[in-house]
Amino acid sequence: MLTIEIDTRGVATVAIEGHDGTHDYTVLPARPGLDDWAYVVERVVPGPAGEGGPHRVALAGATWRCSCGAWKYRSSGKEGPRGCKHCEAIRPLHAFLQRLGPREAV
Ligand SMILES: [Zn+2]
Repeated sequence: MLTIEIDTRGVATVAIEGHDGTHDYTVLPARPGLDDWAYVVERVVPGPAGEGGPHRVALAGATWRCSCGAWKYRSSGKEGPRGCKHCEAIRPLHAFLQRLGPREAV
């Protein structure tokens, strides 16, 4: 389950669970560059060591990538890319937004 809050300005915040609890992150569209889609995900209140991004979460083909350290660490292992908490949160949000997108006339 993903909880999305949208304020009166239209800025979306998602709650992402991490090893030190659940924190709110703002989600903004980013320039996709060479990717099909990209978002910038940033913790509303940074952690004590400044952790929380901003991270670039991008989709190319069927693969989600993130600029965070956990994603780099996991993707360098033998098991291949496993994603990170940011990718896991953005995946359902992106699917929801895709459903709202332009459709062919019926
Ligand atoms: Zn990440």
